[in-house]
Amino acid sequence: MDDDISTRLEDESLHKKLLDDDENQSHPEGDKGQHNSMEKLGTDPNFKRKIVWKNAIGFLVLHLAAFYGLYLVLTFRIKILTYLWVMFLDLASGEGITMGAHRLFSHKSFKATFSLKLILVLLHTIAGQNCMYIWVRDHRQHHKFSDTDADPHNATRGFFFSHMGWLMSRKHPLVIEKGKTLDMSDLEADPLIMWQKKYYKPLYLIMAIALPVYIPVLVWGETVWASTFTSFFLRYVFLLHQTWFVNSAAHLWGTKPFDKYLLPAENKFVSLVSGGEGWHNYHHTFPWDYRTSEFGASYNVTCSLIDSCAYLGMAFDLKTAPFKMIEQRTIRTGDGSHPIYGMKKVKTYRWEDRNINELEIDEKVN
Ligand SMILES: [Zn+2]
Ligand SMILES: [Zn+2]
Repeated sequence: MDDDISTRLEDESLHKKLLDDDENQSHPEGDKGQHNSMEKLGTDPNFKRKIVWKNAIGFLVLHLAAFYGLYLVLTFRIKILTYLWVMFLDLASGEGITMGAHRLFSHKSFKATFSLKLILVLLHTIAGQNCMYIWVRDHRQHHKFSDTDADPHNATRGFFFSHMGWLMSRKHPLVIEKGKTLDMSDLEADPLIMWQKKYYKPLYLIMAIALPVYIPVLVWGETVWASTFTSFFLRYVFLLHQTWFVNSAAHLWGTKPFDKYLLPAENKFVSLVSGGEGWHNYHHTFPWDYRTSEFGASYNVTCSLIDSCAYLGMAFDLKTAPFKMIEQRTIRTGDGSHPIYGMKKVKTYRWEDRNINELEIDEKVN
């Protein structure tokens, strides 16, 4: 039966139409169709990547320094407060990425007061993953051209490339060409984002290096040496990998209950290490949902934090995908692994019935 369904849906134009229908329903405030609009691009297996040696050597040095930081941690050569500080920095700056760069600024899945935006932009600067503008641009491009040569971290090129290899390779020409088609006008109109972009280097030196390193030194007497290798190098590299797993592991391993035609999958491990970003089949299917998972799912600290901010009045207009839409989409395009709708998928719709025309499909979707 499942094969019959896929045969019907392998009509690419229909699948594209279904995606567009969801997109049109889901961006009432006009995300300008940045997400999930699958252009017909692919991956050229013969494309030879050029290594950017400066970046490759930089990452090697960073990792050696982080390993030394890990050695200091594992051999108890730092003060107990420094342990707590490193963990706090990792979690807090991680929220600058997941709650700030990802769910707020890339996907506009909720709105935030200026104070919350400012906190998130500062936390994002501590994380040190380039300025918000560039982070968001790369991420919007990732969604718009997922797993094609125009995706900066195209996962069809394998685990290493999508994890970190893309940051030490020359960009594919399509990444540059298609990158120019992205609409970044919302961020360009945001003075806070443009302020961080303009002053990113000094802000990085202060927020990502000086404050993390010198607070333990000045407040509880940690050595500059130990603090540099743990509060900066180890913490920085650890968070990079937590973020990168979303682009690599969550695009390669897991189930696809919502859309089996996408590469991204539901991956518990990634959710656990990334504050809830591993429910990636859901996220690529319904990218505007602030929970990035059905019902908020589990291991989703960021979802709970956004809820808490909403309770405090700092976050508002939280967007979610309606239950009916999730159900219909799961039945139409899921791989059958959904614990509830996976069963209905087999029984409810008879896609092999050629008498169902696209108009009726629309009605069912709506
Ligand atoms: Zn996303
Ligand atoms: Zn992704």
